[in-house]
Amino acid sequence: MSLPSSTSPYQTVEWAISTYHDLVMTTGLNLSGLVLLDIAVSAGYKGDVVFVNTSFHFPETLELWANLQRKYPEPNFITLEPETETGYLFETDPVRCCQINKVSPLDRYLARTRPTALLNARTRESSQTRSSLVLVEDGDPARINPLIEMTRKDLEVYSVEHSIDKHPLYENGFLSMGCWPCTKAVRNGEDPRSGRFAGQGRTECGMWGTIGITR
Ligand code: SF4
Repeated sequence: MSLPSSTSPYQTVEWAISTYHDLVMTTGLNLSGLVLLDIAVSAGYKGDVVFVNTSFHFPETLELWANLQRKYPEPNFITLEPETETGYLFETDPVRCCQINKVSPLDRYLARTRPTALLNARTRESSQTRSSLVLVEDGDPARINPLIEMTRKDLEVYSVEHSIDKHPLYENGFLSMGCWPCTKAVRNGEDPRSGRFAGQGRTECGMWGTIGITR
C-alpha cells in the first residue's frame, strides 16, 4: 500500500499501520496527541502508546493518562520513567534534567524495541520551528506526521466532534503541555510552544534528537 499524494490524517495513519507492523506512538498528551490517538485507534492501531513520566507532570496530566487507558482498551499503553531521581535539577541545569528525565527513558525504550517508525502528532502550525515539517521523515526510525496540516482550530473541532476530553489545563492557556516547572500558559495569538521552557532559550526538550533521528 503506497501513501497517496493527497491524504487525510486517517489515511496516513492507516498507511503507516499497514506499512510498519512495529509502528510506535509517543504522546505528550497535548491536544494534537489526543486527536492522533483517537484517529489511530479508529484506524485499528493496537501498538505501543508511550508516555514519559518525568515525575514533574501536573496531576491533571497523570489523571488524563489514566483516563485514556480506560477509554481505549486496545493499544498497549507504556509509561516510561527515569532511572534516577534528579530533584530540582531543572532549576540549575534544565537541559541535563530533560536528558535524564525525558530523553534517556525514551532512548532506552527505543534501543530495546528498535521500531522502524514512530507516529508523531506534531503540526506545522504549532511552532515556527515546525513550519517545514513533512508527512514522512525518513530515518531509523522513520517519523510519520499525519497531522501536519491541521490547525489548532481543526484539532478543537475534531475534539468536539469525537468527544475527546482535552487536557484540563488547555482552556487555561496551556496549549503545549509539559512538566510544571517548565510550562506556562500562553496568551491568545502567541506561539503555543512559547509556553515551554520559557526563559531557557529553547522550545524543545531534545527528545526528537534521539536514536539517529535528526531534525
Ligand atoms: S521539562 Fe523541565 S522539569 Fe521536565 S525534564 Fe525538562 S527540565 Fe526537567
